[in-house]
Amino acid sequence: MKVREALTEGTNILAAKEIENPALDSQIILGYVLKKDRVYLLTHDDIMLSSEQADAFNKLLKLRCRHIPIAYIVGEKEFYGIKLHVKPGVLIPRPETEFAVEETLNAILDIKKPKVADICCGSGAISVAIAANNQNVRIYASDISDISCEITRINVNSYNLQDRIFVFKGDLLESFKENNIRDFDVIVSNPPYIPESELANLPPDVKNEPESALNGGLDGLMFYRKIAFEAPRFLKPQGKIIFEIGWNQAEAVRKILLANGFTAISVVKDYAGFDRVISGSLNY
Ligand code: GLN
Repeated sequence: MKVREALTEGTNILAAKEIENPALDSQIILGYVLKKDRVYLLTHDDIMLSSEQADAFNKLLKLRCRHIPIAYIVGEKEFYGIKLHVKPGVLIPRPETEFAVEETLNAILDIKKPKVADICCGSGAISVAIAANNQNVRIYASDISDISCEITRINVNSYNLQDRIFVFKGDLLESFKENNIRDFDVIVSNPPYIPESELANLPPDVKNEPESALNGGLDGLMFYRKIAFEAPRFLKPQGKIIFEIGWNQAEAVRKILLANGFTAISVVKDYAGFDRVISGSLNY
C-alpha cells in the first residue's frame, strides 16, 4: 500500500466513525508511524508502506476510532509554543489555558525572584510554559495524581527546568503546608471545573481523559472554594490568585474570591469570547 492509499483509507475509516477531522488525523497518525511530518507525506505520497508500518497504522486508526485523543496516540501536545509529553491519565493541555500562562507571566514580569504555585499541575503545561519564558521564576507545582506528577517531571526534565520547577505530589496546597513552602507571589490553577451532572455530556474524546481532572463537584466550583480559602495563608501580602474558569463561572468565582479577601478582581476572555481566566489580589 502506498502513502496516498493509506491516507485515503485512513480518512474513510475515521470518517465512518464520525471522527471530527478524519483527513488531518490520518495524516498525523501516518506521520507518527513513519516518523515524518505531514508535508513529507504529501510530497512523497507514492512511497510504499512496509507491512509493519501498515499494521501499526491500522492499529492506531482503531484507537482513534474509539475516540482516543490524537495527543494520546502520538504522545504529545503543543502548548504555548512547547511540545509537551502526554499520556492517558493526564489532561491534555488546552489552548484556552494559555491565557492563564499569559496572565501569570504578566503578573511576575517586574518581580526579581518570583515565586509561583501551580495547583493541579496536570501535565505541567502551565509551569513549563511559565518557566520557559521567565528565567528568574521558581515554580512549585502540585497534583494529587501520580501520573500527573510523573508527566510533569518528564516535561520539566526534557526542557531542563529542574532548577525552576519543583514537583510535589499532594492534594491542592497540602504538600506546601507540610513542607512549609509559602510566600508565593502568584498561585495559578486550572482545577477540575466541570459540574458533575455535565460530565455525561462531554464530547467522546474528552470522556477518554481522566475524570478526576474534569470533575469539579456538584456545581463545578468545589476546587475554587477550597483553593481560595487556603490561598491567602500561602501568598505574600500583595499576592495574586489566577484561575482558569468555565465559560459561565466568572460571577460565582468572583464571589468566592471576594469572600476570601481578594480584591481587584479581573476577568480575561478567550478568543471564543468566553470568560476564561479570573484573577484577584490580596491587599494586606
Ligand atoms: N476546559 C476543559 C474541558 O472543557 C476542562 C478543564 C478543567 O476542568 N479544568 O474539557
